[in-house]
Amino acid sequence: MAIVGAGIVGSSLAMALGERGVRAVCVDIDLSGRLSSSERNAGGVRATWWQPVNIILCRASIEYYEKIAAEVGFRQRGYLWLYDAQTWPGAVSHLEVQRGLGHPIEELTAAEVGRRVPEIDRLDGIAGATFSPRDGLINPNLLKQHYRRRSRELGARYLDRVFINAIVPASDEVRLTCWQADASLEQEGLMRLMAQDVREAEAETGRLFELRAASAAICCGAWSPNLVRLLGVETPAEAVRRQICLVDSRATDLSAYGMIVDTSGLYFHNEGPHILAGYSPPQEPAGYHFNYDGEDFFLNEIWPRLYARMSCFERLRHVTGWAGLYAVTPDRSAIMGRLAPRLFEAHSFSGRGVMQSYGAGQALADLIVKGGYGTVDAGALARDRFAKGMLVTEALHI
Ligand SMILES: Cc1cc2nc3c(=O)[nH]c(=O)nc-3n(C[C@H](O)[C@H](O)[C@H](O)COP(=O)(O)OP(=O)(O)OC[C@H]3O[C@@H](n4cnc5c(N)ncnc54)[C@H](O)[C@@H]3O)c2cc1C
Repeated sequence: MAIVGAGIVGSSLAMALGERGVRAVCVDIDLSGRLSSSERNAGGVRATWWQPVNIILCRASIEYYEKIAAEVGFRQRGYLWLYDAQTWPGAVSHLEVQRGLGHPIEELTAAEVGRRVPEIDRLDGIAGATFSPRDGLINPNLLKQHYRRRSRELGARYLDRVFINAIVPASDEVRLTCWQADASLEQEGLMRLMAQDVREAEAETGRLFELRAASAAICCGAWSPNLVRLLGVETPAEAVRRQICLVDSRATDLSAYGMIVDTSGLYFHNEGPHILAGYSPPQEPAGYHFNYDGEDFFLNEIWPRLYARMSCFERLRHVTGWAGLYAVTPDRSAIMGRLAPRLFEAHSFSGRGVMQSYGAGQALADLIVKGGYGTVDAGALARDRFAKGMLVTEALHI
């Protein structure tokens, strides 16, 4: 079995296949993940979603992360989510489905928010809040390393600096044309390679070889539509830049809390000696953009929202930050399933690939090995839902 793309999702799939007795060969143009979203996220893990399939995938992941919590830095300190008058009725109306699927979640008034997190001293505009104690924060790098280590123990191999620029599914196998880049592939060269039409990937400095596998899976994150296009199929997903920054706030210690999501859409949590904060401006254009706006992002988007909610954030220092890609679909749910005979896919997680990685890997491995979904049923995420008008619209999105 070949897996194209060994980010957190591809690595989880390799482990899940190994658990089912199938050895995976994972190929990636950059195993260190310089342009991979798995290296650039906020580490949030929650089953607090509105769509049952998203809750189910995250719940399965959380149950696994609980077992390996120390190894992957899983801190189950909950998600505190603040809602304004417009969004609160929607949150309340989904509590039943969340609880029904075994996800504990409390309803809080604004006054209760203030008592529970005294640092939140500006309660204006909060119509209500939810607190979900099983949610939390994880170290995504440790989680990816965990998947890779376990999968290697189960027979998986990882090929680095290998770019796939042709995929031919046949009746008895899948043939992949691979370009092995030489060791000098720099960041700029990598970016040029990834952003171009994959069929035109240069083979001047490396070497071409063919990989044959009984089946293959495309797990290339935001780059997946380019790979799928090789089969003449368009994918309704686009890459959108998301920025995060680290701020120094010595007077404020939020380490007792997990993720806090403000009514403004700002999310933040304690991160070592700093606070990690992210915000996704709705006007961000689609495209493979990785530039971080630095102080401008901090001053225009982050600081005003933090200070509007908590007066202890009056004095803050911008430390650093970065940008990465969300792979976003029209209904903001992932695309998973069978793409063609012997060819599978799992990508476009729309901002939740870390928290769904375990569940998604297990579900897809069942589909590949057993021919159908098992305990984690991701059938609702098949790409034909767009043509059938059966969207899995996930509104609880940041
Ligand atoms: C700022 C930010 C915050 C986020 N916060 C969270 C969060 O709190 N919680 C959460 O769950 N998710 C979060 N996400 C989303 C999460 O990071 C992604 O959903 C997840 O990492 C996707 O993993 P992946 O394995 O699908 O893709 P990736 O990690 O992008 O891996 C894809 C791999 O495919 C390889 N590849 C691509 N094309 C080719 C090719 N042609 N040949 C060979 N290899 C190829 C790439 O090199 C890469 O290693 C966030 C994302 C960002 C940007």
